[in-house]
Amino acid sequence: MNEKLLEFDIAIVGAGPASIAAACAASENGKTVVMLETSPWFGGQLWRSEFPRAKTRQAIKWFTHLSETSAKAFLNTTVIDAPAENTLLAETSDGNLRVKYDKLILATGTREIFLPFPGWTLPNVYGAGAMQALAKADWPVEGKRIAVAGSGPLLFAVAANLRIRGATIVLTAEQTDLMSFLKFGMKLPLLAPSKILQAIKYQSRLIGVTYKTSCWPVEAYGSEQLESVMFTNGKRNWKVDCDYLACAFGLTANLELPRLLGCKINHDAVFVDDFQQTSLKGVYCAGELTGIGGIDSALTEGQIAGLAAAGKMKQAKKLRRTRRRYNKFEKAMAKGFALRRELLKLADDETIICRCEDVTAGQLREFDDWKSAKLQTRCGMGPCQGRICGCAVKEMFGWENLSIRPPVYPAKMKNLE
Ligand SMILES: Cc1cc2nc3c(=O)[nH]c(=O)nc-3n(C[C@H](O)[C@H](O)[C@H](O)COP(=O)(O)OP(=O)(O)OC[C@H]3O[C@@H](n4cnc5c(N)ncnc54)[C@H](O)[C@@H]3O)c2cc1C
Repeated sequence: MNEKLLEFDIAIVGAGPASIAAACAASENGKTVVMLETSPWFGGQLWRSEFPRAKTRQAIKWFTHLSETSAKAFLNTTVIDAPAENTLLAETSDGNLRVKYDKLILATGTREIFLPFPGWTLPNVYGAGAMQALAKADWPVEGKRIAVAGSGPLLFAVAANLRIRGATIVLTAEQTDLMSFLKFGMKLPLLAPSKILQAIKYQSRLIGVTYKTSCWPVEAYGSEQLESVMFTNGKRNWKVDCDYLACAFGLTANLELPRLLGCKINHDAVFVDDFQQTSLKGVYCAGELTGIGGIDSALTEGQIAGLAAAGKMKQAKKLRRTRRRYNKFEKAMAKGFALRRELLKLADDETIICRCEDVTAGQLREFDDWKSAKLQTRCGMGPCQGRICGCAVKEMFGWENLSIRPPVYPAKMKNLE
């Protein structure tokens, strides 16, 4: 096996906004820094489509900032294990990297939550963020009829982005109710004023598009691919013809690495102190791993983690007030877009829950916990290792996958010892 050994003061997992901010703060303060990123791009979920030529003001600022530091980065490099103290193992296309560090910053971001309903596995049913990413990468959506559904402010961004690329948005369906939505909106001026301008920008692109609260998909239809979706408002069902459904019920943190290391987790977020340090000394977390709060929160937390890991506590302290405001925003968002119970009952016995191993809801209903279900059905044991069905079984049955074993991401046999 081809393996290289590297040593740095600070290792950062991810190259999204939180990681970039952390890398800038730490390397400006004299530390040697390495970033390890699984994708071929810098920028994470939000900015990766802007790499290497950033267009938005924030991305230009941070990409430029990073390029002026001495931080090193390895792209196409996935951290798969933490085989010894202060050591990470990462897989690259050219063998493994063994990275030794003094301090570690985890900023592995989030993924979308999918809640299964009959027909959700039909071709042309996509994750909302996934479809946005594809469209940003010039996948053609012009002239297509797209229904956007699920929950959270991301739906606005997705619908607006697809529309400016020429798609017809036939409906945007938000599962939360109008009152919760309005209460969340009323908190924006205080907690995240920058989001108001963003919301106005998206709204201006969505004039004429129907946005319904208390509305969610119950079934997708099509013989070979999606043709229509049945929506409900809990009282009445109606069918909407469409070519694509872009659907996600919020975001969930990628907790595999913090779990593998043994960091304390509270309510699906890594527990951190005022300096972003986890329950493990010298291990920090930033960005969406500590709570879903958006880009500004990720940048602030990244800076705090980078400064604290570099020993600049006074500077880190100055950012804590801003971070507290974003923490309140995170809580307001979680409350405003809490998932309604009806969504957890959409799957009938034939609905596939684990699409890697073709396991249905009916098969899973025979078990009391995920371990037994896994052993008998292979649910969560396919290539995605429960990253998709894990959220669904947790929400539907209350089963949590707490057993994390390396490699935390699929790796080539030849790269495993
Ligand atoms: C599909 C999707 C779409 C989104 N769209 C929007 C949007 O339009 N607007 C908005 O405000 N917010 C959006 N968000 C939220 C957005 O992710 C955050 O606001 C912001 O990007 C958070 O930054 P981060 O650095 O915490 O995480 P991310 O930007 O997610 O960066 C985490 C990085 O870590 C890398 N990584 C993960 N695991 C490993 C590993 N084991 N080894 C190496 N690298 C790893 C990932 O590839 C990723 O690049 C979206 C989120 C998702 C999931």
